[in-house]
Amino acid sequence: MRILLILFLLFTSLSSAQSIYPTDYFRSPLDITLVAAGTFGELRSNHFHSGMDLKTQQRQGLNVYGTADGYVSRIKVSHFGYGKALYITHPNGYTTVYGHLQSFSKEIEAYVKKHQYEEESFEIQLFPNSEELLVEKGQIVAYSGNTGGSGGPHLHYEIRDNEERPINPLLFGLDIKDSTKPIITEVYAYPIGPDAHINKSKIKQKLRLIDNKDGSYSVENIEAYGKIGFAIATIDRQDLAANKNGVYNIQTRYNGDLCFELDFKRFSFSETKHLNRLIDYDLYKTKKQRLQKLFIEANNPLSIYNNNSNDGYIEVEDSTSSVYKVRVSDIENNDAWLQINIKGLKSNDVLPLEDNTTPHYIYQSQDEVLSEGRVKVNISSNTFYDDFFIEFKVEKDTLTLHKDIIPARKYFDISYDLNGYKTEDASKVYIARLVGWNDYPLYSNTKRKEGILTTSTKTLGKYALATDTIAPTITPKNFSKGKWLSKYRFLKIKIEDKGSGISNYRATLNGKWILTEYDYKTKTLTYDFNDAVSTETKNNLKLIVTDNVGNNSTFETMFYRK
Ligand SMILES: [Zn+2]
Repeated sequence: MRILLILFLLFTSLSSAQSIYPTDYFRSPLDITLVAAGTFGELRSNHFHSGMDLKTQQRQGLNVYGTADGYVSRIKVSHFGYGKALYITHPNGYTTVYGHLQSFSKEIEAYVKKHQYEEESFEIQLFPNSEELLVEKGQIVAYSGNTGGSGGPHLHYEIRDNEERPINPLLFGLDIKDSTKPIITEVYAYPIGPDAHINKSKIKQKLRLIDNKDGSYSVENIEAYGKIGFAIATIDRQDLAANKNGVYNIQTRYNGDLCFELDFKRFSFSETKHLNRLIDYDLYKTKKQRLQKLFIEANNPLSIYNNNSNDGYIEVEDSTSSVYKVRVSDIENNDAWLQINIKGLKSNDVLPLEDNTTPHYIYQSQDEVLSEGRVKVNISSNTFYDDFFIEFKVEKDTLTLHKDIIPARKYFDISYDLNGYKTEDASKVYIARLVGWNDYPLYSNTKRKEGILTTSTKTLGKYALATDTIAPTITPKNFSKGKWLSKYRFLKIKIEDKGSGISNYRATLNGKWILTEYDYKTKTLTYDFNDAVSTETKNNLKLIVTDNVGNNSTFETMFYRK
């Protein structure tokens, strides 16, 4: 009877969840077989993926279609993020988003360029009104590309509700073949309670995973006592590609009772950074493994959880035997199961936690100031999720502020007082985060005020002062001075800066501003002669590039064109 009831509840919750969204309203944004390079909710760096990444046959320039009637409500062009992105709002209240575009359709492209020339900026954000750029279902609105933070040609496709919350596009009937089960790749067990232990240890344990090759997994039996929790690394593949994508749903059961569930139906952008509370951030940073914790700690505002008893933790009693199961599924209900047999055994001979005490303790609910010499760190309340002992050390100009193994949910400030600092030119000094095995100084966005440099960051680790006295370099890629360029469609120029990096650039042709598109991946500026800024035969091109501490380079050349 009980099983029937559970089945009934499960069935009704599944069917009602899936029927909220219209499944035949939106067509496909592409006219090729859809292959997923990324799924909704997939774990990315500091965020959940908010749409589907659709493969474009390793090519750019594929037709991108408006997936339903509506109007263009927003256009954003940026160096990073979605690159060139289009937002279409539909009469049913949903908005579809198309990202990493190569270009827009003719009408939209002309609209964007007009505003780019008016504002003299490649990066732009526009909010056309509901009459300006109307779209019919199936109309070509753009061409697919690889712009912004995209690591290869693809279309990022998103569906948002009227509160700007992204929803899993697969709930709207987007057709992606998937009969492939998710796979589980790692399992960890965490002693949580003060007297809890697992395999005679208070330290989290990596469990040896046994893959039974039929979608079921087990681990070697464990001995445990007290309040404990688990975490898994898991991925899903679709049928037509080998890409490791995210899963849709994870459930856990303790002795048959559902005790934890999360799913990727919908989230809001304000919570996406709390991905770092879901994953074991330390393991991600130290071992590049994204373990999803199957329990909910304090200060976790994520809305992806349901059906939780005891926040996903289990209480193991002495002299018992129990079974913990994890079910991972994709949206087509292909699933994988993991079984963990637990022998309850209270041990008096337990390996204690490592001593990680330092002289500085962070209470997550309080403001904290750490300072030594010319360095000051300002941490406001609720910057971190937990209280912890922080490592704080200043040697000459190098600050060691713990390690990047604890996530921050807000920015904190690091400042350096440059008064009395001996250097050739204090205006060329910036704050750098030291990264990698060789402590490479990476520019950290630095503000200066009255001899004090400040950077706002969310990343713990090493920081130091660095100096950049070298101006950017400017190199024409496809032309040289004094040449006839009548047959050229594009001018391409490489710009680079060692040290602080490029802050801005400005190109003019015969004194008039020209639009140059900047692709940071190839460090290239591109001007399109179709913009027809000049009708002269003899043309003077001038380009000024400035780095983040104000060094600048000016490049001037001339060419002919008729
Ligand atoms: Zn994407």
